Amino acid sequence: MSIDHGKRSSSGFDRPKKSLGQNFLNDQRVVQDIVLCADIEACDAVIEVGPGRGAMTGKLAERAGLVIAVEIDRDLIPGLEELAAVYGNIVIIHGDILKLDVEKDIVEKYVRPEGLSRVKVCANLPYYITTPIVMKFLEECPGLIDDLVIMVQKEVAERMTAGPGGKDYGAMTVTVDYFTEPAIQFIVPPHCFYPRPGVDSAVVKLIMRKTPPFELKDKDYFFKVVKAAFLQRRKTLANALSNSPLTGVTSGEVTEALERMGINPLARGETLSGGEFAELSNILLASKK
Ligand code: SAM
Repeated sequence: MSIDHGKRSSSGFDRPKKSLGQNFLNDQRVVQDIVLCADIEACDAVIEVGPGRGAMTGKLAERAGLVIAVEIDRDLIPGLEELAAVYGNIVIIHGDILKLDVEKDIVEKYVRPEGLSRVKVCANLPYYITTPIVMKFLEECPGLIDDLVIMVQKEVAERMTAGPGGKDYGAMTVTVDYFTEPAIQFIVPPHCFYPRPGVDSAVVKLIMRKTPPFELKDKDYFFKVVKAAFLQRRKTLANALSNSPLTGVTSGEVTEALERMGINPLARGETLSGGEFAELSNILLASKK
């Protein structure tokens, strides 16, 4: 069940832009499966990042109360406006998702006036900016959006959902786990896109947590500790954290904190769970004062 991406005009429609991460979905069944995973109802507003040629946009609009589709490529806007005119519940924003204020520019402007109760994100993301887009939604949108169903590179999906101890486990895992409950839904091979990406992809569902999974004395400091631990992931935690300008602690303070927690001071960051990073950052913060 392939999607027809045939030539439409001389506007550039027929020439995907690699620089904008344009790998258009070419398989109707994958589109259907993504939309099913998103579990969309008429009371939902869906933010679609990068609607492209609209492969998913119409399907989302068939189920949602409103679809707000944010596309950076001017050449794709006329085709998307045509689609919006057919459905009547699609808003097209020509812009860069990273520069928009999700609350002010999307939720307050379009979602609240419609009285829609839930906001979801659903997207086949441009891979060159996957991390900043995901981080933007996680950091800016707790309490604002309910979940994200996103297509990402398979290896990114594996990093988002990894458990402690393995090579995929890192700062992204701990961050995603702090804000959401993540789960890989299914793998999508390159032939489902036009043009074909050089890697496998995966659809991930991130359900935003209503309450944080552990108590933090200082959220910013927690993320600094996590970042410092994985910037030098081959080093012991005592070395990685004491050699970083992010944390402001000595090797002795880290060792003492880990001993207090019953963790071997020679441990590396990749062995600590999110909860253990939370406890460590709370203790280190107290010892700094
Ligand atoms: N949703 C379409 C599909 O599945 O066929 C297109 C997906 S394609 C992987 C990514 C889309 O994101 C492209 O249309 C690209 O132009 C758009 N895009 C890239 N950077 C963007 C940004 N910063 N803000 C909004 N859209 C962006």
